[in-house]
This record gives sequence, structure tokens and C-alpha cells, in this order.
Amino acid sequence: MAYKTFVVEHLDPELGPWSGLEYKTIAQESKFADCDFILSSVPHTLIKSGELGEVSSNARSDPVEVYFADKKDRICLLDPAAEQELEPEDTKLFDVFLFGGILGDDPPRDRTSELRKKGFMGRRLGPIQMTTDTAVRVTRIVILEGKRLDDVPYVDFPELKLDEHESTEMPFRYVVDKQGKPIMPEGMLDLIKADADKGFDEGDF
Ligand code: SAM
Repeated sequence: MAYKTFVVEHLDPELGPWSGLEYKTIAQESKFADCDFILSSVPHTLIKSGELGEVSSNARSDPVEVYFADKKDRICLLDPAAEQELEPEDTKLFDVFLFGGILGDDPPRDRTSELRKKGFMGRRLGPIQMTTDTAVRVTRIVILEGKRLDDVPYVDFPELKLDEHESTEMPFRYVVDKQGKPIMPEGMLDLIKADADKGFDEGDF
């Protein structure tokens, strides 16, 4: 099997705290899996700022089609609007798996279209929106472990307890751990709590 690369194309001018945690998690998990992780299209200013921390070594300023100019037909865009679901057999067709470095939003604004219009082949990971780190996790499970999408253990729209009185429903699908808890980046629950205090009025996660 050819070596697989997971590319997240950063689509925002800045780095929000949620994306920062997601990218760090993807970088750490990729080290344990037998694959590469590249964060592409990162503005030079952001690379130089040091804000990316340990993810700096994964960051490239070129967009994916420049970075992988010789492999465009081996790139698979993970696209919530694709007609075909990702399956283990896709490992034969693709070497690079591409994701939008976008925060989830409710309702989804289809910013993945910015990558779709570049003409990559697309695959869906089921009908429900996932966070970027979840989408990468599920793709690794299907492509590197050979599991079918339907056999991955999920929870949809989990209710997170913020304190004794308050909870919030996350509008995403997550992979669950052995205890049935949604897998999310370390520190994410604290960010969610802090944002809940401010109010989720932007509709962005
Ligand atoms: N609301 C979003 C949009 O504007 O397209 C979805 C963004 S999602 C948080 C970030 C990335 O994860 C997407 O660009 C896509 O690559 C991947 N992703 C998330 N859910 C997916 C799904 N159900 N099928 C395929 N890809 C998915």
C-alpha cells in the first residue's frame, strides 16, 4: 500500500482557538498512525507568528494543488456533498485525502465548495457534518484500518454537560471511545464552556 497523506487546506486568514486544537490533535494522531499530515495554504504571516506551535512542522504555504501538482488524480476531497461514500477500496485509487480547514457551522455553509471547484474527486463520510479532526479520524479508520463507514462507532449531536445546570448540544457526528464518549481534542471542552459563557451567537464552532 502506498504511503497515505492527509492534507487539511486551511481556508481562513487567521487561526481560531478551535482550529488550533483540531490541527494539533490531527498532527499528534498522525504520528501514531502510519501516515503524513500536511496543513496547506497557511499564510506566511501565520507560519512565522509561532501560533501554530508544534503544528508548524506540518504547515506549508502552498495550496494542495501546487504542493501535489504531480498527483492531482490521486487526491480525494472529503466532501459532505459528494455522491459516493468513502470505502476501504478507495485506498487503491487515492494517496492524498483532502479536508477543508474550516470550523463547522450550523447550518453548514458549504465552504468545502472552495475546494470542490478545484476539480478533485470527492467522497462523503455519511450524511452528517463532522468536525475536521473527526473527518480525518474517520478517513484514517476507513483507509488505513480497512473498516467500513457503517462499522465506525459514532454518536450524533452529543449533549455536553457544561456545569451542574447547563448543557449544550454539539451539531456534529463524532467517533466514540470505548466508554462511548465522543472523541474530541484535549482542551476542547474548556473552550466550549468558555464560548458558552460568551454565547454561541456566531453560529460557528
Ligand atoms: N460546514 C462545513 C462546510 O462549510 O462545508 C463543513 C465543514 S467540516 C467542519 C470540515 C471538513 O471536514 C469539510 O471541509 C470536509 O472535508 C470534512 N467533512 C466533515 N463532515 C463530512 C462528511 N459528512 N463527509 C465528507 N467530509 C466531511
